[in-house]
Amino acid sequence: MANRSRTMEATLIPGDGIGPEITEAVLQVLEALGAPFVWDVQQAGTTAVEAGLDPLPDATLESIRRTGLALKGPLTTPSSGGYRSVTVRMREAFDLYANVRPGKTIIPGRYDNVDIILVRENLEGLYVGREHYIGVGADPHAVGVGIGINTKEEAHRVIRYAFDLAVRLGRKRVTVVHKANILKILSGVFLEAAQEVARDYHGRVTLDESIVDACAMQLVMAPERFDVIVTTNLFGDILSDLIAGLVGGLGLAPGANIGDKAAIFEAVHGSAPDIAGKGVANPTALLMAVGMMLDHVGETAKANHLRAAILATLQAGEKTRDLGGSLRTPEFAQAIIRSLQKPRRCQG
Ligand code: NAD
Repeated sequence: MANRSRTMEATLIPGDGIGPEITEAVLQVLEALGAPFVWDVQQAGTTAVEAGLDPLPDATLESIRRTGLALKGPLTTPSSGGYRSVTVRMREAFDLYANVRPGKTIIPGRYDNVDIILVRENLEGLYVGREHYIGVGADPHAVGVGIGINTKEEAHRVIRYAFDLAVRLGRKRVTVVHKANILKILSGVFLEAAQEVARDYHGRVTLDESIVDACAMQLVMAPERFDVIVTTNLFGDILSDLIAGLVGGLGLAPGANIGDKAAIFEAVHGSAPDIAGKGVANPTALLMAVGMMLDHVGETAKANHLRAAILATLQAGEKTRDLGGSLRTPEFAQAIIRSLQKPRRCQG
């Protein structure tokens, strides 16, 4: 039994699709690590609907309100049917304005020196859900209209978070990614806010500016040039998947949704319905999200221990199918537990 010096309550939403499988693997690893979390297990998404509840039940909201801390498995959002993303609703409910998505090379090979932290504005832009159809003739869906909204106030808040994160982690450059050459107002507001915030960090952190299409190419050509990226909601969603691809795929990419009163940690990937129930899903992204959660609550030594065990396991060639290995999800969890139990110097 691992050493657990303090405990704290946190909400756990296993999610659907591969969610329950990877959550089970994560819980086994955390038990071996001696993580401080005492879980209040709650439902959301498809599992809640199947139980006759709202996709985001009151009990789940109440739990997160109380604990201020949650680990969330992926939740399926049907593309049609007027069903609003539960993940997006949660971000709004708890004012989780910064979505932090680190992309760091774990398995050298494709790109060896990637170490980027992407901070995505999490509440505005084209995600505000102001959409409607305009009917033409017999087709009520002839035209689709979506409105994007970016406010200066929200942009300041998330860009300041990115600069403060850079200072805290000793990073020197923040790149604001935009499309202000075309979306002069919607994207221009965000760029303007970045230029205003950057003045307060003069001499400590430099602001770079990059247009999103050029940024996508540069990320593929020379990702090691990027340090911290801050961008609007949709660009952040797309670029963080791109960065995940640079460092080994979605199975390795964690994310944190940060607000002033709550924080929700998750994998960047979705519910992977194509492999759900097959026992082959990679739990690394959710484990790395727990690493971020441990950092968030000040358990840095345990976070580093966990990351070192994941790294050693993968570098020893013990991998799930998505990374070219053959281990099933529970076997991979056991490999990490064995690695946790080996003495080694912790690394960040
Ligand atoms: P996805 O991320 O679920 O899957 C994309 C591909 O990556 C699939 O081939 C899948 O098998 C693979 N993959 C993803 N995670 C993996 C893992 N841990 N191990 C091994 N392979 C993995 O994306 P999708 O198919 O576009 O979305 C499926 C559902 O998930 C949709 O309903 C979508 O709305 C939802 N989604 C939820 C979240 C969230 O809850 N935060 C995020 C993204 C997508």
